[in-house]
Amino acid sequence: MSDRAPSGPRGRRGSKWSWLLGALALLVVVLIARPVLHLLSNALDDQDNREELEVGHVDDASGLNATRVAEVWAIPTDADRAEEQLRLLLRRAKQQGLAISIAGARHTMGGHTITPDGVVIDMLPFNAMRLGESEGTLWVQAGARWSEVIPFLDRHDLSVAVMQSNNSFSVGGSLGANCHGWQHGRPPICDTVQSFRLMKADGSIVTCSRSQNRELFSLALGGYGLFGIILDAIMEVVPNERYRMHSQLIDCDQLGETFIELLKRPSVKMGYARLCVRNDQMFAQAIVNMLEDAPASDGALPKLDAPGLQELKRAVFRGSVAATTARSCAGQWRRPSASSLVESVSLEISS
Ligand SMILES: Cc1cc2nc3c(=O)[nH]c(=O)nc-3n(C[C@H](O)[C@H](O)[C@H](O)COP(=O)(O)OP(=O)(O)OC[C@H]3O[C@@H](n4cnc5c(N)ncnc54)[C@H](O)[C@@H]3O)c2cc1C
Repeated sequence: MSDRAPSGPRGRRGSKWSWLLGALALLVVVLIARPVLHLLSNALDDQDNREELEVGHVDDASGLNATRVAEVWAIPTDADRAEEQLRLLLRRAKQQGLAISIAGARHTMGGHTITPDGVVIDMLPFNAMRLGESEGTLWVQAGARWSEVIPFLDRHDLSVAVMQSNNSFSVGGSLGANCHGWQHGRPPICDTVQSFRLMKADGSIVTCSRSQNRELFSLALGGYGLFGIILDAIMEVVPNERYRMHSQLIDCDQLGETFIELLKRPSVKMGYARLCVRNDQMFAQAIVNMLEDAPASDGALPKLDAPGLQELKRAVFRGSVAATTARSCAGQWRRPSASSLVESVSLEISS
């Protein structure tokens, strides 16, 4: 038997295929090398470069409002202890002439949550929740964030009725700002609040609703913490539904008309648009996103899973933000990584 490779027509065909496959592999490597290197170098550069705050200072989520404060006071998680100690804190602050500000997730970036040389109450530890006594309601403490509320409700096939486009905000901060959602045809979040308990400056606690302490009810919702500390609230929640998102990129001068027309479709449940604010394309285009009813034929609802591949998604997102080769928002949007760019540099309009 000979060890030599066959040199007949079959052998030549085999080596031709090997060459072709090799060339194809090389081509694929050349084509993806640049984006992969770009993503890798961005992932390596993606460090938390925020400077450490000076001792005695706090900042909000923007990182632009570092302010010296007298104290950050984290509310105890136990409700009875929290109420008792809050009362003591309010009394002490009054005696010492210290102003108090109330902080949830601190995404309201005008210094609302930080009074210079005052006391900042950190509400985030106060985050217990349970289903309300009447059907379709949630009882929730003010420090809970939507990222905690949504998985809790999902376990009961329920969801938040009105909330912002991000889930990082606290219930108290959302009520304090009376945020709007993108649920079509719905008023802001105040509409979903049945009642809340408010600790006033003198330490007393009142229940506010449309029938009890009506004036305080309307003042504290959207009151930015000026009328007292919202401790907990009973809010309307809704059954989970299955929607499908449709996006379209349009010129900004058609935005108003297109947005209103799309919202007229009875199947549209939520809608929002983001304007492109790239320096070279300022307000030239907008992306319009509509979420339409799309029940499964068997009524099944998708499971709310923990987001997967976080690191990779972040690398792609950061890579798309850093990309300098894009020529327009439209071009950016069409590439898989581009949506994040348009989302990250955009103004938002919701229905
Ligand atoms: C990326 C992004 C997306 C956004 N999207 C939307 C949107 O879709 N719709 C919308 O309407 N807004 C939106 N906003 C604004 C957002 O809704 C508000 O900034 C909201 O207040 C943030 O919640 P927070 O927990 O960070 O509140 P914080 O900034 O912590 O507090 C907000 C205000 O409420 C007060 N407060 C906090 N907790 C309490 C409490 N327990 N009792 C009384 N007062 C309290 C604070 O003192 C402050 O004045 C967005 C903001 C960002 C940064």
